[in-house]
Amino acid sequence: MNSQHYDVVIVGAGGAGMMCGSIAGKLGRSVLLIDHSEKIGRKILISGGGRCNFTNVGARPESFVSKNPHFAKSALCRYSPADFVKLVEKHHIRYHEKKLGQLFCDYSAEEIVDMLVKECQDGDCRFSMNTSVNGIRPDESGHKHKRYNIDTSAGHFTCESLVIASGGLSIPQIGATGFGYEIARQFGLKIVPTAPALDGFSWGDSDLARFTDLSGLSLGTVVSCKKASFRENILFTHTGLSGPASLQISLYWNQGDKLSIDLLPDKDASEFLTKVKKAGSKQEIKNVLAEILPKRFAEYFTHHLDIYGPINTMSDKKLADLVSVIHGWHLTPARTVGYKKAEVTRGGVDTSELSSQTMEAKKAPGLYFIGEVVDVTGMLGGYNFQWAWASGYAAGQAV
Ligand SMILES: Cc1cc2nc3c(=O)[nH]c(=O)nc-3n(C[C@H](O)[C@H](O)[C@H](O)COP(=O)(O)OP(=O)(O)OC[C@H]3O[C@@H](n4cnc5c(N)ncnc54)[C@H](O)[C@@H]3O)c2cc1C
Repeated sequence: MNSQHYDVVIVGAGGAGMMCGSIAGKLGRSVLLIDHSEKIGRKILISGGGRCNFTNVGARPESFVSKNPHFAKSALCRYSPADFVKLVEKHHIRYHEKKLGQLFCDYSAEEIVDMLVKECQDGDCRFSMNTSVNGIRPDESGHKHKRYNIDTSAGHFTCESLVIASGGLSIPQIGATGFGYEIARQFGLKIVPTAPALDGFSWGDSDLARFTDLSGLSLGTVVSCKKASFRENILFTHTGLSGPASLQISLYWNQGDKLSIDLLPDKDASEFLTKVKKAGSKQEIKNVLAEILPKRFAEYFTHHLDIYGPINTMSDKKLADLVSVIHGWHLTPARTVGYKKAEVTRGGVDTSELSSQTMEAKKAPGLYFIGEVVDVTGMLGGYNFQWAWASGYAAGQAV
């Protein structure tokens, strides 16, 4: 069978794949990027509300979740947010910091895709879009260097280095697949169980009815789950809990875990209520509460805790119950929203199977895994792209 040979074949023309291809291409390697999508970098295009939160200036290894929290250190240290910013500036892309170190394009995420395509084209790097991979097998024909055979809808290719940059399972509607995990399994690599993350929560049936009155409410809170805590907004939707703090905490949440929410992180509710009571106020408790919380919350809590009447008649016990709910409201969502909305997939190719320097599989020389398919998942705020760039760069130098 006729086949075309490249030094490097990369499956997945997303952020990680293009970064890897551009680096390898500029180092003189012939590179083919294969993607089953018609369009290059679709996730980049929809990211950050169309403006791509392309990195976070505060990205540190602690910003990532992995079974081995040390794995990402080497790659992140060799390709930093400042390195990506330099690239963005070289291409005259205007950007701004939105909040908390998050850098966004001023105009459009398309600029990031165009930049990466240009960087790829500056080296010997070609794209084969609209191409599906039918199978991959190592060549056993005794070449000095191990080769991989890739059978695709666009023909048969061979390569010395095969890079899997096919991403995770989130947003299957724009082409996400479990391809990378299948290839990892084919070569005997372990997978850390995957789950949708950065997607917020859905209520079970009984809570759905309980919380309908809160739908649309947004407020600044501290949300905690186990040892993780985030101070940002939550938003009650008609089906569950969204907003940045909910998305962040979903990275740490497992089925059955409780969330603890401090609804008033900047104020001591006990001090406030005691002061009003001691002043002899005859105000209805829900109206007093509405001075420090949105009115609908005040109504919800007084109703559900069965606390009615003027504040000066309230027992200290009732006020203490109210305070403990305000500063530590416990909720148990039924599930996270799922892959259709999740920004990332948690878990993936077990990092113990890969070199942290090059991303090469220890059991399969010449086979590399980069980006979201690996068990390294960033928090919300530009961290996941930083991992895509850094892991792509590490592999790009090695392939
Ligand atoms: C709505 C949304 C917004 C986001 N916003 C941000 C943000 O602002 N900042 C941030 O840091 N992160 C953000 N993320 C996360 C970020 O987009 C991903 O972590 C990142 O794109 C992962 O890069 P990747 O190259 O590993 O994978 P991907 O970008 O997913 O690329 C994988 C590529 O592989 C291709 N592919 C998949 N299966 C196959 C197959 N079987 N055959 C051939 N090709 C295949 C896909 O078509 C795709 O082009 C967002 C995610 C979503 C869903």
